[in-house]
Amino acid sequence: MSLAAPGVRGLKPYQPGKSVEELEREQGLAGAVKLASNENPLGPSPLVVDAIHSIGMETVSRYPDGNGFALRRALAGKLGVSAEQITLGNGSNELLELAARTFVTDRHQIIYSQHSFAVYSLVTQAIGAEAAVTPALGWGNDLDAMAKAIGDSTRLIFIANPNNPTGTWVELQALSAFLDSVPSHVIVVMDEAYHEYVDAPDYPDSIAMLSDYPNMLVTRTFSKIHGLAGLRIGYGVSRPEVAELLNRVRQPFNVNGIALAAAEAALKDVDHVFKSRSVNKAGLVHLADAFDHLGLPYIPSVGNFISVDVKRPAGLVYETLLKKGVITRPIANYGLPNHLRVTVGTEEENRRFIEVLAEVLTTSEEVSS
Ligand SMILES: *Cc1c(COP(=O)(O)O)cnc(C)c1O
Repeated sequence: MSLAAPGVRGLKPYQPGKSVEELEREQGLAGAVKLASNENPLGPSPLVVDAIHSIGMETVSRYPDGNGFALRRALAGKLGVSAEQITLGNGSNELLELAARTFVTDRHQIIYSQHSFAVYSLVTQAIGAEAAVTPALGWGNDLDAMAKAIGDSTRLIFIANPNNPTGTWVELQALSAFLDSVPSHVIVVMDEAYHEYVDAPDYPDSIAMLSDYPNMLVTRTFSKIHGLAGLRIGYGVSRPEVAELLNRVRQPFNVNGIALAAAEAALKDVDHVFKSRSVNKAGLVHLADAFDHLGLPYIPSVGNFISVDVKRPAGLVYETLLKKGVITRPIANYGLPNHLRVTVGTEEENRRFIEVLAEVLTTSEEVSS
């Protein structure tokens, strides 16, 4: 429709993973397994469940704390920063959008990589900015290519570390060298939605790097390892000057009171995070071994998901898996038409997925590429 702003005219909405309810309704089956949206298969911490139960119902008639005082203080303590450095968001996706709306106009350019998170192109297009998409290197962000792409009109660079949907990560040395080369008119957003899962020794501590690189915004979320995807809460960590700008643009009550209380409780449960990480680690090994047995190449991942080359159009494999009650994610929209992204589930869920995948592969043709 011609009334739409120029950037919105060609915009295709984000496609979420199919829900268990939707699949069960469509296929008339029960007991479906969802490994499609990188949610925590263990769910939230029991401390979160208690915290939500103890919220008085009268709170729903009051506006939440628009400054998120208690949660920001708790996060600041945990991360070793000041509360003025934290910006809360309705999911970390909101921070990604806020960053673009705060620093970029339709006369500017945003850089992000091929095979990177779909929200980067969405927010870039929505504000009518120019997208400079750099080719991937080894499935991940090519920092040299990104540095070379920077021009006078560049205002923002999105780097997911680790990257979704490929699970690749950027190392400390490469990141420091890159940041040294970024001019002062460019904001670098380090999207660390999967930060808590990573145990690669060369994975950078980006928050510690804020003292050297004032133009960095680190975003994290309670949706992934903390198991609060349904509540929509994430945060940004930056220098106070950057946070103050983001705060001008965000909606006054962007995070609801239940999410604030739940997130605060989630931070206290170190054991739950630990357990979630170890279940994930074992699951990654389990899935990788199974792919090896099936002769399927996969992209080594440090996240809570792994993308596997099913050697034929993955959309068809996805559809057949659905009929058998397993929801995965085809990623042709990320430029990977033969890859399926699967979230690491519980041991039982992973086994079910592998069993069903093996069945599907024997009944469909491999296509050599
Ligand atoms: C899941 C994910 C997010 C987090 O989204 P929320 O809005 O916090 O739920 C952000 N970035 C990437 C790369 C992700 O995969």
